[in-house]
Amino acid sequence: MNDHTSPVRAAIEEAQLDALLLAAPSNLGYVCGFFANPHERLIALVVPLAGTLRLVCPSLEEEAARTAVAGDVELLVWRDEDGPDDALRRALAGTGATIGIEKQYLSVANAERAAAAAPSARFDACDDVLVRLRAVKSEDEIAAVRRAAVIVDRVVEHVGALAEPGVTEAELSAEASQQLRAEGGESLAFEPLVLTGPRSALPHGHPGATRLAEGDLLICDIGVFVDHYAADITRMFVVGGSPDERQREIFEVVHRAERAGIEAVRAGVAAHAVDDAARSVIAEAGYGPSFIHRTGHGLGLEVHEAPYLTATNEEPLEAGMVVTVEPGIYIEGWGGVRIEDDVVVGEDGPEVLTSAAIGLPAPLGVDA
Ligand code: ZN
Ligand code: ZN
Repeated sequence: MNDHTSPVRAAIEEAQLDALLLAAPSNLGYVCGFFANPHERLIALVVPLAGTLRLVCPSLEEEAARTAVAGDVELLVWRDEDGPDDALRRALAGTGATIGIEKQYLSVANAERAAAAAPSARFDACDDVLVRLRAVKSEDEIAAVRRAAVIVDRVVEHVGALAEPGVTEAELSAEASQQLRAEGGESLAFEPLVLTGPRSALPHGHPGATRLAEGDLLICDIGVFVDHYAADITRMFVVGGSPDERQREIFEVVHRAERAGIEAVRAGVAAHAVDDAARSVIAEAGYGPSFIHRTGHGLGLEVHEAPYLTATNEEPLEAGMVVTVEPGIYIEGWGGVRIEDDVVVGEDGPEVLTSAAIGLPAPLGVDA
């Protein structure tokens, strides 16, 4: 599924580059099928306009790389005692005058290393080239997200069922991590976010020793990779299952906003149209200032990638993009409510991949 050499070459040509030097693991995996965590050692893929791809690879990754690479790739292996400079120089030899690099990713040290390895070359940013290609998924890529979605569906329901008074956030987060793996997830997209009570208002809080108490809100946001592709879901629970009036009201607003956002997802509309649809529901209910983040993000080899569903993104959605829709209302000292689903952009409308029950363990007064 991950040999995207041909479309990448067409994009290199269109961007008027002669070659790419890729080091971001997701880009490298996308092009040649080799996914690695480089830690401090340089792993880099040189993609020339024509001819063999060249992979600069530390010796301890050599075997993994040989097994993984999808197409015709020459390995330039370097050892710790030598460092990567010579391998990089050979990889860049004869590739042309203008080389695309990931300015968002490449460290200054590695950029200087590349400049020394190809002293006559000019280096231009190629980040957007890859971002645009990766945003539109093939059927195979969507199928991988779908498999990941089945897992997050099951695990978020499992966590909801364990949400009893006395349990800590950290215990539920650890249970979610373990279940995501046990269900077949290959790695976590992020530490499972399980927060309760007023802490549910922290969109990026850290699960801790706080114990669940009867009647408290509980937010559970989890994500997992399957075959390198991510799914991401958020569900809300009320400990003990009996929401009070305010919880019910705010939940219903967020749920309506989420439905409106999902219905706005279709090919050809600007990305901001989804944000507009969700945000206007929340604003009309009087909670506009409490919706403090964008409505969603793309899903793929990274759990957050293009397209970003912000209020200002004019870029059109295209069929095959996969996005989250996840509006929320956050009130300091009270708590937060967010609902998140994963959606494929279709020619005629949205296809929702996640399907965990809304409002577990007891219905919050809305139909799923
Ligand atoms: Zn999420
Ligand atoms: Zn998300």
